[in-house]
Amino acid sequence: MRPYNFSAGPATIPLEVLERAAKEMSDWHGCGMGVMEMSHRGKEFISIYEQAESNFRTLLNVPPAFKILFMQGGGLAENAIVPLNLSRGLDVDFVLSGSWSQKSFKEAMRYCSPRIAASSEPNGFRDFPHPSTWDVNPKAHYLHICTNETIHGVECHALPDLKSLGSDAPLVIDFSSHVLSQPVDWHRVGLAFAGAQKNIGPAGLTIVVVREDLLEQALPICPSAFEYATVAKNSSMYNTPPTYSIYMAGLMFEWLLTQQEGSLRGVLAMQRRNQEKARLLYEAIDASSFFSNPVSLPSRSWMNVPFFLADPAKDAIFLKQAHERGLLQLKGHKSVGGMRASIYNAMPIEGVQALVAFLKDFEAHEA
Ligand SMILES: *Cc1c(COP(=O)(O)O)cnc(C)c1O
Repeated sequence: MRPYNFSAGPATIPLEVLERAAKEMSDWHGCGMGVMEMSHRGKEFISIYEQAESNFRTLLNVPPAFKILFMQGGGLAENAIVPLNLSRGLDVDFVLSGSWSQKSFKEAMRYCSPRIAASSEPNGFRDFPHPSTWDVNPKAHYLHICTNETIHGVECHALPDLKSLGSDAPLVIDFSSHVLSQPVDWHRVGLAFAGAQKNIGPAGLTIVVVREDLLEQALPICPSAFEYATVAKNSSMYNTPPTYSIYMAGLMFEWLLTQQEGSLRGVLAMQRRNQEKARLLYEAIDASSFFSNPVSLPSRSWMNVPFFLADPAKDAIFLKQAHERGLLQLKGHKSVGGMRASIYNAMPIEGVQALVAFLKDFEAHEA
């Protein structure tokens, strides 16, 4: 049996998807070429690209008023690319809920005037600030939030309605680490971006979903390859896109379309399964007097579950025994320490059950 891999990213990919890619590695559908060797302008790759885009649109119910861009640069590059495209060099708002939104805020300072509308830093990023507490700037050109803080394990489970807060600003969401784990309320979103290596596939691909009316306002210093309007006009082929990562993402989208939980399919099935996985793991942590998770209940992430041992001197032996039981990459992010179990779409419920069984055994023998 393959071990269960709890890495936060690059992260586990379903075995079926990897095996299909392996089978098609040197000859894709009998065309005599592997996907890595194809021109991005040839009919073979164009068909891979179009299918991937259309399956992503179907999975997340993306309305026609939004463009889906397949870019490079990852989440961190988007921290610059978003202000270069949307800020006009002027006021923008940020809600700080963990390391990733904090990083985005700092990067935006290079290009515009970001301001903090709310922050949970004073309480150690233990929750997602409730929208009723936000101090929104009506002149902001957008408001940025990170809807799943991968390091702190904080998730925004209901997108804010900025209109009800007196703002017409588009909402920008960094949904890198929970994209496709649950539906998105696109009425509330102006732009969403996600690096692929958490919940989709290999690194190198960044998906940007942007409302058409937000194109065409980039700053003159914005690199052309990062100008959303240019990328959109060229169907993500202004420069060579990350072709193999797009192909792998496409295989993952096909896998997601086949997933079922009862009568639910696709992303709704994933949402049901992800909620169940998270419930199992948090219940085990909360029931234990040795393991703990500091995040407030309504803000707990269904994707990234940081947890701490009551005795950090036991961290190393915990990781060693976990590895021996086929539970890989549980070490927490270096900035917060402890452990972190990332339980993305590709982590089956059996993986979480194996982790929960290990937590109980470890506590019984070592705590
Ligand atoms: C991983 C991650 C990023 C950064 O992605 P890179 O591809 O390393 O630039 C940005 N935001 C969130 C929420 C992430 O989890």
